[in-house]
Amino acid sequence: MAIRQIRTIGDDILRKECKPVKAVDQRTKQLIEDMLETMYEANGVGLAAPQVGVLKQLVVIDVEDGNQYVLINPEIIEEKGSQTGEEGCLSLPGKHGTVTRPNYVKVRAFDENMQQYELEGEELLARAICHECAHLKGGLFVDLVEGGLKDNDKEEE
Ligand code: ZN
Repeated sequence: MAIRQIRTIGDDILRKECKPVKAVDQRTKQLIEDMLETMYEANGVGLAAPQVGVLKQLVVIDVEDGNQYVLINPEIIEEKGSQTGEEGCLSLPGKHGTVTRPNYVKVRAFDENMQQYELEGEELLARAICHECAHLKGGLFVDLVEGGLKDNDKEEE
């Protein structure tokens, strides 16, 4: 396993569309392991492949609900309600902003064994799924932020 460098805003790769994963080979397995390690090291709750410079439809999420989610070629198939709250991104260190997202989503994806599954998320998990899936289409939370970006408090770091 290895920590990968997280690309930050301004890097063109964050604005590109990712390609679907066709098969999980050894390289993809390594990428998943590295992304999880990189996410935990950075104290994030999610990480998308383009954030480590790989244009593949792959995200990892851990919102500390006791699960680690690997979503390959994810597709949000249902959205309900809305939530407005603070959101940040490992590609925009030191900043956060107010973003409105669905309060519930259902996503269809493949796991690390290329088994298709559906995941339902509410609140923080729904927010993380939406945020990470947007990365795969070149979307960043700054596109949706209401009232501008705010600096994180130093004490929180
Ligand atoms: Zn992000």
